[in-house]
Amino acid sequence: MTEILVWHRSDLRPADNAALAAAALDGDPVPLFCFDPQFYGADGLACDARLRFLHESLADLRGQYRALGSDLALLHGDPRERLRDLLDEYDALYVNRDVTARYGRDRDDDVFAWDAVRAFGGDGIVRDADETRSEWREQATAWMEADPHPAPETLPANPLDSEVTIDDIETRYDTSPTKTNAPEGGRAPALRRLDRFVDSVPAYPGNVAPPAAAESGCSRLSAYLKFGCLSVREVYQRIQSAPACRGREMYESRLFWNRHYKQKLADWAGWTDRAVNPVFRGYNRSNHDPELLAAWKEGRTGFPLVDAAMRALVETGFINFRMRAMCASFLTYVLREPWQYGADFYYYHLIDADPGINHTQWQSQAGVVGVHPVRVYDPAKQVREYDPDGEFVCEYVPELAALPDAHLPRPEKAPLAALDEAGIELGADGNYPRPVVDYERRASEARDRFARLSDRAREAIETPTVWRRASLSRNRREQLRETDAEADGQASLDDF
Ligand SMILES: Cc1cc2nc3c(=O)[nH]c(=O)nc-3n(C[C@H](O)[C@H](O)[C@H](O)COP(=O)(O)OP(=O)(O)OC[C@H]3O[C@@H](n4cnc5c(N)ncnc54)[C@H](O)[C@@H]3O)c2cc1C
Repeated sequence: MTEILVWHRSDLRPADNAALAAAALDGDPVPLFCFDPQFYGADGLACDARLRFLHESLADLRGQYRALGSDLALLHGDPRERLRDLLDEYDALYVNRDVTARYGRDRDDDVFAWDAVRAFGGDGIVRDADETRSEWREQATAWMEADPHPAPETLPANPLDSEVTIDDIETRYDTSPTKTNAPEGGRAPALRRLDRFVDSVPAYPGNVAPPAAAESGCSRLSAYLKFGCLSVREVYQRIQSAPACRGREMYESRLFWNRHYKQKLADWAGWTDRAVNPVFRGYNRSNHDPELLAAWKEGRTGFPLVDAAMRALVETGFINFRMRAMCASFLTYVLREPWQYGADFYYYHLIDADPGINHTQWQSQAGVVGVHPVRVYDPAKQVREYDPDGEFVCEYVPELAALPDAHLPRPEKAPLAALDEAGIELGADGNYPRPVVDYERRASEARDRFARLSDRAREAIETPTVWRRASLSRNRREQLRETDAEADGQASLDDF
């Protein structure tokens, strides 16, 4: 019988898995995962909580394979070398395409060029087509609605022995997560979350924005989608069983955004390190202030919601969309730091970190694509609207817990008597800091600076190569011409 290696990467499931389904039809699948040292250690760019999530997902996948009669073989080393060696013994290698940053793209270019390798697309991402953007939505919809690949009902034993265990890897790389409340990896916990969320879809519109509601009110499926414990299509189809309502529509649109942003990285690998619009290359580089950047990372800017969100990110590996967007905007427009510093910091800490969404979103939020309105979110306004009783702020910035809610948006404007009564001396040792910058002045200057660059940025983005690598559609071009720049910088957050 033909023995076909099935190389798992970000598709840690037997269900809706094109490569596995094809291998089961064509021969005997030999499932494997290869721990790549590139993603571990000091340069690995992943916090230990994300690595633990991956390891839990692998243990769960292994359990699923064992239940089918097979197993998941675990290897360690550069996949190019390990797989090359294995192909001397096995007949073929089947693998699902992924959307990766530069390293993964180079690796895949090498591996996919070998004769015995079949790479499967069919993930809602359009590849290798010149003129695809006008029909992108139709193609993505057709993929979401098509029948998922069936999971095999049984499999033959796996002849390939593991050369490492998950424990070996955790010991070797000293994986010891410190984050709290991190989700448990694996398909079983993912399905439990999905079931719970389907029941609460009608409440989703009210829960999507307030940061304190994210745990129970959003799906919290992003890490499971990132590692492929569930496919985006499986979630889309399961959500159809929720009652038709605005929450369902909103949620479906988020799943399309997942594909939409990943499509961008598939179109251009440069999203992770270079501004897509050449006018913004090196933007803010000369403004870099290590102290301001450190204050942002450590949650001590003196803007309570920014600080609460940044501390929550570091402590738990998760913040909701609104907090991600607000802190990104604050770093780039108000603190005038290059967007790459923030994108890399999020990428390290987020359990759901995905370069196809994180870095592309960062460029959008930072305005360096050159088609979005300037999005300067006022952190004080965000407290008033989305955390009016200070639930989130006080959880992560306990120094302010005794301050009346009305002063949480701008503690530095609270009357001295109120601060005294709460035992707070802003800026004193061990106390909450004063604002590190003048928000109003900097927000206004940011709008002016972008306004001055907008003509050049528009011209640059309209050149065909830049337009294409930014994955912008013809419709978008029409919209840009019709609406010119949207005036209200917060408009894009209305649905969140
Ligand atoms: C600066 C920035 C960085 C981000 N980085 C990531 C990242 O690394 N990984 C990631 O999965 N999401 C990222 N997002 C998008 C979004 O914030 C998260 O997907 C969402 O908060 C995850 O929580 P959830 O699963 O409860 O989402 P839900 O609100 O339940 O949404 C369902 C799913 O839709 C997708 N989705 C939701 N919002 C977006 C969006 N704006 N863009 C693309 N897909 C979306 C996700 O897969 C998500 O799991 C980022 C957003 C910003 C502004």
